[in-house]
Amino acid sequence: MEDKICLGCLAANKKLRNNYCSKCIKELFNGNVPNPLNFDRIEFTKKRAELSPRMSISGVQDKISLTFEKKDLIPTASNGKYILKPITNGDGHIQNEKDIVANEHLSMLISKSIFKIPTASCGLIRFSDGELAYITKRFDYDEETNLKYDQEDFAGIMGITPVTHGENYKYDACSYLDCAKMIKQHVATSIVSQEDFFKRIILNYLICNGDAHLKNFSLYSKADSNEYFLTPSYDLLNTRFHINEKYGDMAIDLLDDYTETYEAYGYYTYDDFKTFAKYIDLPEIRFNKIIKFIEDSYLEVKDLIDKSFLSPKAKEFYKESYKDRMKRLRIK
Ligand SMILES: [Zn+2]
Repeated sequence: MEDKICLGCLAANKKLRNNYCSKCIKELFNGNVPNPLNFDRIEFTKKRAELSPRMSISGVQDKISLTFEKKDLIPTASNGKYILKPITNGDGHIQNEKDIVANEHLSMLISKSIFKIPTASCGLIRFSDGELAYITKRFDYDEETNLKYDQEDFAGIMGITPVTHGENYKYDACSYLDCAKMIKQHVATSIVSQEDFFKRIILNYLICNGDAHLKNFSLYSKADSNEYFLTPSYDLLNTRFHINEKYGDMAIDLLDDYTETYEAYGYYTYDDFKTFAKYIDLPEIRFNKIIKFIEDSYLEVKDLIDKSFLSPKAKEFYKESYKDRMKRLRIK
């Protein structure tokens, strides 16, 4: 099956090879042109069960590790450089599960191509029966030496565990402001990283990702260095389309205390993000620039949503919810 748009970047392109443009073949697949997967979702589930005791990828969503064998990406228990996530079987907790793959792909692309936030390389790939799955390239190792980077998520960095903070530890233990303080403490290029982190938080708000919890942010250092950086973003999703969230708009509180406007409205607005920016020493001119950028880039976001593989209903929801969040930020 040949699509008319690239399954990596969603650009319309006539010269696709196995559904990918040359840029995506280079960036996502290191120059290999992958065949469609030679197994389907049923076989995926079987393989996952076989491999899972030895798998080291954390998280609850069904996923397996893949590695290239010539032009085929095949499941592997160790040293896989790709992670494959199909649509979930839906155990009753998730709505609209058929859109979850396209949702993650779109959300990651908004982050990467429009907001220019460092973001894991990703794309869509077809199972043997044509169904789409989400594929992402691992970023926690050196592509030349194969050495694994030293990586730690924010729960680990802060020593926050179920034992110290209870079962909701990923959500309840601290604020995004505390995370920003950690970045200031550990990242050498902290002025750049603070702005990067601010953009990530405001983007999660715009795309209604209510699951940007402590384990979805990490720092890493390259093999031959003691300098830490924020890893590329991963696991971005408009969760609101799939779950009726009961814990509010964001996975983690933005600030240590609620502002007067938050108390008045019951949700985050322009004032909260402005306060957040002030507390992390983001210059006002940079803050204003980011707000202006969000306003200016909406048409591009809308265009990408329209090009995505979401269902018509999901596209409408994504646009509406994004616009709604812009309104809360006083952006037209
Ligand atoms: Zn492409």
